[in-house]
Order: sequence, then C-alpha cells, then structure tokens
Amino acid sequence: MTETLKNFIGGTWKYAGASESLKVLNPASAAVLAEVPLSAAAEVGHAVLAGVKAFSEWRRRPVGDRIQPLFKLKALMEENLDRIARTITEECGKTYAESAGELRRAIENVETACGAPMLMQSEFNEDIASGIDEFVIRQPLGVVAAITPFNFPGMIPFWFLPYAVATGNCFLLKPSERVPLTAAALFELLEASGFPPGVVQLVNGGRDTVNAILDHPEIRAISFVGSTATAKYIYSRSAATGKRAQCQGGAKNPVVVLPDADMEMTAKILADSAFGCAGQRCLAASVAIGVGPARDELSSRMADAARSRKVGFGLDSGVEMGPVISAESKKRIEGLIAEGEREGARILVDGRNKKVPGLDDGFFVFPTVLDNVPPRGEIARTEIFGPVLSLMHAATIEEAIALVNARGYGNMACLFTSSGAAARQFRSEVHAGNVGINVGVAAPMAWFPFSGWGESFFGDLHAQAHHGIEFYTQTKVVVERWPRDWSRRF
Ligand code: NAD
Repeated sequence: MTETLKNFIGGTWKYAGASESLKVLNPASAAVLAEVPLSAAAEVGHAVLAGVKAFSEWRRRPVGDRIQPLFKLKALMEENLDRIARTITEECGKTYAESAGELRRAIENVETACGAPMLMQSEFNEDIASGIDEFVIRQPLGVVAAITPFNFPGMIPFWFLPYAVATGNCFLLKPSERVPLTAAALFELLEASGFPPGVVQLVNGGRDTVNAILDHPEIRAISFVGSTATAKYIYSRSAATGKRAQCQGGAKNPVVVLPDADMEMTAKILADSAFGCAGQRCLAASVAIGVGPARDELSSRMADAARSRKVGFGLDSGVEMGPVISAESKKRIEGLIAEGEREGARILVDGRNKKVPGLDDGFFVFPTVLDNVPPRGEIARTEIFGPVLSLMHAATIEEAIALVNARGYGNMACLFTSSGAAARQFRSEVHAGNVGINVGVAAPMAWFPFSGWGESFFGDLHAQAHHGIEFYTQTKVVVERWPRDWSRRF
C-alpha cells in the first residue's frame, strides 16, 4: 500500500485529516512513491498555534543555546547524506551527484547560521548626547513560514530555516507537493536535533494550504521560492496582510561567450549549466550569446555536448542527466521547442520523442540546442525550465550586454573570456543579481546573499547569510539615560 505522508506539528507526526491528496511520482519511471496530503487551513492553524506557544520560550533562550540543535542537525545531515540524496533523486529526478551537491549547500547554510551569536550583533553609540547612549537590538519576528519549489527540495528550505530559528523565530515549512519525501526525511533529522516542540514544523499541501499561511495573522514573514507568477501573487498577498516577504521567482539566464574564451572549458561548463538538473535550475544557462567569431565554434561544441550527454535514471551509474519533473512539464517544454522552431530558430539537436531503454513511462526530454533564436521572440523571453539551450549571436560585447539587459528576469548572467577588462565591464553593466565570470552556475555560497533582480525577486532582503539574519529580525532602537544622581537615591 502507498504511504500517506504526515505533517510534523507541535513536535509530533500527525495525519493531515485532509480529504484531498496527490500522488508523488518518480519522474524517471512514473512509479508512485507516496501520497501527499493537501492540508486544509485547520492544519495550518494548529501549526501556528504550536509555533506561537513555543515562541515565548524559544526567543528568550540565549542565542548560544539556540544554535546547539543546529550543530546536532549538521552532524545528522552528514551521516544521512547518502540516504537523503537517494530520496531526492527518486522524487525529483536529478542525478545522485546533483542531489548530494544540493545537500552540501544545505549543510553550509546550517554551518553559517551557527554564527548567529556574532551575526546578530548590532550597533552601539556611547554618549550620543551627554550621558545618553543609543543602541540597536535585534529581536525575532515570531512565527515565520517558507513555501518552496520542487527543484531543490533538500537545499532551498535551508536557505531559510537555520537563520529563522537561530535568530529566535519558530519556522513552518510548506514544501512543494511534488517532492515532499525529502522534507519528511529532513524533518526526521530536525526532530532528532533537539528543537523544542513547535520551533520547526512541516505542513504538506498545495495552493489552499499556501493561502491559509498567507492569510494567518500570526505568521509574520513569508519566504518564497518558485515561479515568477506565484512569487508576485505571494508577495502582494503577504503585503496585504502586513507580512514581511522575500519572494524569489523564475529566471532566463544568459551567458555571453567572447572569442578570447577557452572554448573547450567554456563548452564543458556551459553544458553542465544548461543540461545539469535537466535544466531545472533557477541558475541554469538558458541562452548563450556568441560574440563575433565565437559563434561557429560555440554552436558546434554545444551541439556535440548535447548529443553526448547520457540521460537516464539518476541512481544508475554513468547517468549525467535525469528526467524533468512531470508529464505536464515534458509536454510544456516540447511545446516551447516547437514554438522556437515556428519563430525561426534552427533546431541543432532535438531532444524530443526520445526514450530511455526500460523507462518508457519516464518524463525524459533529452538535451536540445536551438540556434539563431530571434532575440525579440517568445522563446528568448520565456523560462523553459528544461534542458534546452538557445543560441544567439552578437557582433560586440556591448551588443551582447544589451541583449542580456533586454530581458525582464535578473537572476544570473555569466561571461566567458580571458580579458579582465571585458569581465569588469560585464559585471558592472549587466542587469542581474548573481554574476559569473568563467563560471556557469553563479550560485552564491551560504555566506553571501542569493541576489536575484527584476522579475526574479520581489522584496529587498535576500535569502542566506546576513540578509537572512536581517530578514528574520526586527530592530529596536533604544535611547538610554542613567543619571548618576537618580541611582544614588536608593
Ligand atoms: P511553483 O511556483 O509552481 O511552486 C512553488 C511553490 O508555490 C510550491 O510550494 C507550490 O505548492 C506553491 N504554489 C504554486 N502555485 C501556487 C498558487 N497559485 N497559489 C499558492 N501557492 C502556489 O514553482 P515550481 O514549479 O515548484 O518551481 C520552479 C520555479 O521555481 C521555476 O520558475 C524556477 O525558476 C523557480 N526557482 C527560482 C529560484 C530562485 O532562486 N529564484 C530557485 C529555485 C526555483
């Protein structure tokens, strides 16, 4: 019988009591792995109540004590990395190496948040006027929630959770209903880490669960990662109920290749960026712009790289790329490839209608390369979120930067070159929150903020590092006078 997943509320695992549920599928085989409940508003209410109850004690616990469960969690994540990486591959489709890689990024965020005793320090001025001091204290917000996407089920919750709890908040996660098994496995580790009941909670669900979170008056802040349409919706509904919000949206990431780049290295890195995680990374290279004479060699090398990538189930040895997340996703991606062709692009490598032997029902789209993609067409602007690389061409770096800056998204832009001057111009002029120079996935480490711009981010404080600490705390400014003659009276 298929397992029905539980929520983790108030320190115990509970069935949701939801009438609706969804099947969780292995995208490589379409095998059913579990049933995930679509929790109702009542479940969210129970979790918020437990969070509010836990908050009054948790926020008063010294920060040095609050980080102790995080140290334990880090050790447990290391010990269980292999098991959880396999779970990620089974429900999300990426290769084992990619799954293990995202868990390493999660662990780095736990480690960084263990620095909260220093990261939470703030300003103090003695004698702002004679005998008067002024200082800032950082206090937690209360119950906060994160709503996360399918593509990094092991990493993205940890862009938020460690910082939220280290600063004294109680944290509620609503993971993607398409990949809930990873969150369940991670919450078993959180349970064993020694957090008091109500400090970390898991509520499974979909759209209605999210709306209940957004409308609950006791939830003070929302962290969201997902598509731009949902990010915009969540940002505005959070604002309407007076919540702090940081909402990361979709992407369309351009990479510019200058003729002086090392083409062999560039093609390898670019292929890993465009086809790694089956192109389902918010920092996947989606458009490559060859400048001047870089054009021909770039096209032929990317076509070779696409043709030679081994596609299959991510736990099988030698597999370099897995399936996309669902049958709907496969259909949408294949439709966009056809749309690209209609707009005038030339299909150099066509990844449609291909099967992996023994996995006939899997949601596979093989690596695809489109050449001469018209810069003003739909395909140049639409997030494909699949293993499809669009090639464009520009005569100069200025023309290439103009193409980069013409899109609405601003998650990442990369340049490949051997010129320091070109790199300096690019990083200064390009509209993107994360910039890579001779790097294909410019993912900030845990101790830097994940800085999307434009349609890729709504808010001001980003995920990770000191931005996380600031997002999850409110500042209180104290102006204080202690006249000596007053104390002498007692
Ligand atoms: P999604 O927007 O469909 O879902 C994300 C979350 O929002 C899920 O938990 C889902 O249950 C919830 N949700 C979806 N529709 C909703 C609605 N109408 N109302 C309320 N809640 C809703 O995103 P996805 O398909 O899971 O993830 C892929 C997207 O995430 C891509 O666009 C990708 O670029 C983006 N992403 C962005 C970043 C980043 O750092 N900017 C990182 C990872 C993924």
